Amino acid sequence: MAGTPPSRSRVLILGGGLSGTLAAAALAPHGIGVDIVERHALPDTPRARRGLPQARHAHMLWSGGADAIESLLPGTLEMWLGAGAHRIPIPNGMVSFSPGGWYRRCWPEAQYLISAGRDLVDWAVRTRALALPGVRLLSGAEPVRLLGTRTRVTGAVIRHQDGTEEVREADLVIDATGRASRAPSWLAGLGIPVVPETVVDAGVAYASRRYKAPVDTAGWPVINIQVDARLAGPGSGGTILPIEGGEWMVSLAGTRGGQPTSAASQFLAYARNLRSPLIAEFLDRTEPIGPVTVTRNTANRRRHYEKIRVDGFVALGDSATALNPIYGHGMSAAAQGARALRELASTSDITSKGFARRAQRAIARPAAAAWLLAVGQDAAFPRAIGKKPTLADRAATKYVNRLVTTACSDFTVVEALTDVMTLQASGSGLAHPRVLLAAIRGPRLPPLAGPALTPAEQAVLLGRPAPTPTPTPTPTSTT
Ligand SMILES: Cc1cc2nc3c(=O)[nH]c(=O)nc-3n(C[C@H](O)[C@H](O)[C@H](O)COP(=O)(O)OP(=O)(O)OC[C@H]3O[C@@H](n4cnc5c(N)ncnc54)[C@H](O)[C@@H]3O)c2cc1C
Repeated sequence: MAGTPPSRSRVLILGGGLSGTLAAAALAPHGIGVDIVERHALPDTPRARRGLPQARHAHMLWSGGADAIESLLPGTLEMWLGAGAHRIPIPNGMVSFSPGGWYRRCWPEAQYLISAGRDLVDWAVRTRALALPGVRLLSGAEPVRLLGTRTRVTGAVIRHQDGTEEVREADLVIDATGRASRAPSWLAGLGIPVVPETVVDAGVAYASRRYKAPVDTAGWPVINIQVDARLAGPGSGGTILPIEGGEWMVSLAGTRGGQPTSAASQFLAYARNLRSPLIAEFLDRTEPIGPVTVTRNTANRRRHYEKIRVDGFVALGDSATALNPIYGHGMSAAAQGARALRELASTSDITSKGFARRAQRAIARPAAAAWLLAVGQDAAFPRAIGKKPTLADRAATKYVNRLVTTACSDFTVVEALTDVMTLQASGSGLAHPRVLLAAIRGPRLPPLAGPALTPAEQAVLLGRPAPTPTPTPTPTSTT
């Protein structure tokens, strides 16, 4: 390295996962050259890769995230669907057992989600982002340390696969290395004060397994048994996600003291002991096609980069805000953060003083909305570690619980909750007078005695040949 003149990037993105490639998509259209430094090889097909262990678990991409990605990279939605992903309407395409009861499915579509394997989601984004003019990928490379002073980051030292190190200067460094980011210690290496951090950890473990779907997955709903934080003891829940290739991705999750294990022999038993055995009943009708994969790295961890005064450095995605995955918000918050970065870069020069702080604040906004949804529930678990709920938090959680119960039989409320859950609206939408009134009034109909299933779904449970499912099911209600 000694004596070699430094190379230069306008923007250096550390990490070539979803956030890294979306950050590139946010800046490249402004004519800003972007270099992405990624430790692992990135395949040009939607197959598994190193550096993305969470891809072995169910990933729902809510419409708030999908729309943000589509606006950054037009045509991605079509690419996902063309490769076998499903667009599932919400609430009618979800068989969901919330803490308030079974959701009805007779309502019209309020929002949607993209249901696909995580490798497929990332592949389409990566393919489109890397094709943009000015975007270059340095794969098999990783940052060793940051360059700069106590007030400005000016680049990074990069180590290549062959062990050589390169000094690379940049106007802006974006950290997108995910949950395990070492950015706080890299910044400390420049003498930059410690980044304030908030953690709420309900100790959630995930166990996931792929199954061969016994039916055509097109038109098939998401089956979701939600965790109920109000019950005594650990919470547990699960999801069947119909993904590409005629598969079901099944994830089970439990909080500290009630976590699922990697033992294949216990997977079905755990599913059977959820608040409803519906997932196990569907799995009884088919065969697994892979091992059980477990992860315990799920704490809500927010690094408040917006509170430090450093130019030339921004963090996006899990590196800044990692969320308990059971609410499915990580990808959507990252995508909306990238969209906010694009908007800021259209009006401000990335080299201007204070750009990084303004960008970090803009990125923090959607992440903060998802954060409030997650920690509001997680802090309520008796064995959760970290920030405890305040009186205001408890009151808000009580109100949301009331809404969740009312939502089972009131479209005004289900629509408001769906908009917030999909990150299409801020939490303030839940305080709209129309929604408040509905909450005061409470449920309009008695709770359903069981899940609202279509004849095709019931046939699978009964082990009969399934009639072809309709794209928007008209389920029979069990009221
Ligand atoms: C079990 C589980 C289930 C989840 N379910 C959902 C869900 O349903 N919906 C949802 O929206 N989100 C979900 N998430 C969250 C989602 O996975 C993350 O929010 C998302 O991956 C964040 O993307 P990212 O690019 O910030 O980080 P990552 O996807 O982790 O990407 C980081 C990238 O940086 C690279 N990298 C890391 N370190 C270095 C380094 N030192 N140098 C160079 N490169 C490096 C990695 O190889 C990788 O490519 C889930 C997470 C988990 C763990």
